[in-house]
Amino acid sequence: MQFRFIMFRSILFSWFISFSLSAAERPNILFLFTDDHATQAIGAYGSHLKDFVRTPNLDRLAKDGILFKRCLVSNSICAPSRAVVLTGKYSHLNGQRTNSDTFDGSQQTAPKLLRAAGYQTAIVGKWHLKSTPTGFDHYEVLRGQGQYYNPLLMTNGKNVNHTGYTTDIITDQSIKWLEQREQSKPFFLMSQHKAPHGRWEPALRHLALYDDVDIPEPSTLFDDYQGRGSAAAKHKMGIAEHLGDHRLMFQYSSKFTPEQFKVFDGWFRPRNEAFQRMKLSGREQTRWFYQRYIKNYLRCVAAVDENIGRLLKYLDESGLAKNTVVMYSSDQGFYLGEHGWFDKRWIYEESLRTPLIVRWPGVSKAGRVNRDIVSNLDFAATFLDLAGATIPPDIQGRSLVPVFRGQTPKDWRKAFYYEYFESGGHGVSNHYGAVDARYKLIHFKDQGLDEWEMFDLKEDPREMTSVYGRTDYRKVQQRLEEELKTLRKELRVE
Ligand code: CA
Repeated sequence: MQFRFIMFRSILFSWFISFSLSAAERPNILFLFTDDHATQAIGAYGSHLKDFVRTPNLDRLAKDGILFKRCLVSNSICAPSRAVVLTGKYSHLNGQRTNSDTFDGSQQTAPKLLRAAGYQTAIVGKWHLKSTPTGFDHYEVLRGQGQYYNPLLMTNGKNVNHTGYTTDIITDQSIKWLEQREQSKPFFLMSQHKAPHGRWEPALRHLALYDDVDIPEPSTLFDDYQGRGSAAAKHKMGIAEHLGDHRLMFQYSSKFTPEQFKVFDGWFRPRNEAFQRMKLSGREQTRWFYQRYIKNYLRCVAAVDENIGRLLKYLDESGLAKNTVVMYSSDQGFYLGEHGWFDKRWIYEESLRTPLIVRWPGVSKAGRVNRDIVSNLDFAATFLDLAGATIPPDIQGRSLVPVFRGQTPKDWRKAFYYEYFESGGHGVSNHYGAVDARYKLIHFKDQGLDEWEMFDLKEDPREMTSVYGRTDYRKVQQRLEEELKTLRKELRVE
């Protein structure tokens, strides 16, 4: 009897030891996510804006970790990208094809699987999927797009009003949750900002940032859309024509307190009146609109970066940093005046590409730059792999953990499939295509269009001239056409 008891005790003891070891080895995961943050607006990525972008904290994260140069999204728009991150599946399988769809929260998601694997899970900030968040021990999310000042956060079923700047508040609440969480479990926290999504209302402390400088224009600000099919010219996202009063800060979107309004309006009103008096037109007006747009966008980015700095400081001071994988990304890229645009949606580079910066102390070598084709499609599998959980076979993305370790598998993808479904949104027709390290093949088949484009990114990185149908590219085109067929079949595209 006593022998059996000792056996039982020793089994229990060894189980306890192995459980505590695995719990200690399993890293925390801090997923920092923003909305519409273009790589061009992160110092570490480098761009024509690099001397003006204020992202010292993201730059430090890149210096301590890995900067992914080619992280591509499968559908360059807000809610669909979020659904891809949660499920690891393309839009046509997770059901979130457009911003108008409601996310089916009953389906398999990474947070649910992480929770089942013993992680404590939380989301704070922007959700944007209409249905109530599922799979989280704690949720505290903006309703819809949310606003830049004085947000309402739906907090585990209750509406809670906050006063202040939303980017700051999302960080405050993220840190509060980290402090109050169950310490015995590893955590998975999605801290997700509204910023720098439009309409770009900067923090009061950043209103004067860039006031005395001219921000450089991208070389394609006055694109005439020649040399391609007819899709690009049909856009409704022009700096010149489509920004409108709210994006130009001639009108405001937030509900301010009287004190906030006095400072905010006190800054913009005299400048708006000065603009009216100048009676600008044509290119001069477009240039003024571009400066107004890019400065407010970069001011919103400055607040994001400061707040990322606050969270990283909290990790350092609490001792959590050494066992926490930090991933920074955004739901897609964005046009900062390239092709004359704001917004996203296109398979063209600026919106196809999204930032990805990863820091994994003691595992990922610091200061690496990676050029593999990775994707937001891979995030769900990566979270699960980091947690030591099984990756279900129906997840379409692949774990990035070997890539983080500096050991990209030999059979890593060489080509990537893209598809956009929000027909006519901001004038963008539905399209799909295949992208590899150098070329891109696109089919616009919507709104009366049936057109193909192909770009050689090495010869034409700004994608100004389609080479589709050119005899000197015949072999490349045939290869990409085959690639596209294969991808559509493999990914179960109807
Ligand atoms: Ca977005």
